[in-house]
Amino acid sequence: MTEETFVPKSNINFPFKTASDWMDFDRRHLWHPYSSALHPDPRYLVREADGIWLVLEDGSRIIDGMSSWWCAIHGHRHPAIVGAMQAQLERMPHVMFGGLTHEPAISLAQRLLSRLPSSLGHVFYCDSGSVAVEVAMKMAVQYQIASGENQRAHFAAIRRGYHGDTWKAMSVCDPDTGMHGFFGAALTPQFFLPAPPIAFGSAWSDDPKENGLGALEDLLRMHGKKIAALILEPVVQGAGGMRFYHPKFLQMAHALCKSHGVLLIFDEIATGFGRTGKWFAMEHCQVTPDILCLGKALTGGHISMAVTIASKAVAAGISAGEPGVFMHGPTFMANPLACSAAIASLDLLATGDWQAQVEAIEAQLTVELESARRLPGVEDVRVLGAIGVIELDRQVDMEKAHRLARKTGVYLRPFGRTVYAMPPFIIDPDALSQVSAAMLQLAKRV
Ligand SMILES: *Cc1c(COP(=O)(O)O)cnc(C)c1O
Repeated sequence: MTEETFVPKSNINFPFKTASDWMDFDRRHLWHPYSSALHPDPRYLVREADGIWLVLEDGSRIIDGMSSWWCAIHGHRHPAIVGAMQAQLERMPHVMFGGLTHEPAISLAQRLLSRLPSSLGHVFYCDSGSVAVEVAMKMAVQYQIASGENQRAHFAAIRRGYHGDTWKAMSVCDPDTGMHGFFGAALTPQFFLPAPPIAFGSAWSDDPKENGLGALEDLLRMHGKKIAALILEPVVQGAGGMRFYHPKFLQMAHALCKSHGVLLIFDEIATGFGRTGKWFAMEHCQVTPDILCLGKALTGGHISMAVTIASKAVAAGISAGEPGVFMHGPTFMANPLACSAAIASLDLLATGDWQAQVEAIEAQLTVELESARRLPGVEDVRVLGAIGVIELDRQVDMEKAHRLARKTGVYLRPFGRTVYAMPPFIIDPDALSQVSAAMLQLAKRV
């Protein structure tokens, strides 16, 4: 280490005086998601978030068409959630969960389990979605080892899936749109099935060649004994391609997995809490997984938290085997502040009319995005619940799309070939029209 390392950076102009001071420091020193340190992508300085609105540094307001990566379902800074967090902050922002417990953790688990099929019975709190996926994969492996199936060290996944950015989660993301191409040999090889070919709302086919289940049958016949679990996002594939597929696929995949001793993990981190029009996307297929991951909208987008919920059979299996305990325990597990936000968010869902709101969003987006079908370069338009997607025949120019937010008044963050919106459920029809119009603008111009 050179002596220079210890010299304070007195050249940094602090305190910052203008917005451009802040932005300049940001560009020079802050890493943003999937961004370059040397050629930083464009950013907006947000001063405040309120309901559906992001208030920028100059006081202008733009609609958060993404619900801040699908989380802020009730809008930002919801008074009920903020109030619950403030009260919790006064009492106990945090205590460790090893050997201690608290009402927020217990109340939240009680609320979650009351919404889920009774076979799901054991709640494990995590800090983020990716960790919830790591935990689910670890549970599956530990269950298999406890059942004497030590050779089941791999996973099956479907193409176009997305499960997070940590190592094991990355290994089950789509090998093309995900990060396999880059990390290659550093990732655990897994077994990939084609993305379920029959779309949500299309006619089902019993032909295994057409419905995608032939590939699963073949895989399980050839490699089933090496596979601990099949992991997938039920019905809606999110960040891997924004695809909606036929729920019947899940019913048949469930039966096939069961007959081969392969567990089923549902990653509902993006789909949970009403986004697809049901509390959980698995209600579209009436299949209960062995392990369920929830995250994103769990706290209504107010603070990071996720959860992995195991079936009673998986939990009992893990606990009956060696070493008799589940081997995971995050430092900030069951953070009371996050639990209090999640409880308030779930209570808003339980008492509010989110179902009518999501239905209205679905109906309005369906009508308003229809004209996108006639635009050149548009391959598909699809809407499910409070999700609207325009798929293009080309990669989106992200920087151009970013710049358009000020013009359209709507913050959208398209990726790959898709322009999409996931508005907060509380959005009113006029604001939603603005979101649709912004999506059409992007489809024309990026
Ligand atoms: C966002 C997401 C994750 C990862 O969650 P993080 O909180 O970003 O770690 C995992 N799975 C799905 C389906 C997601 O949408």
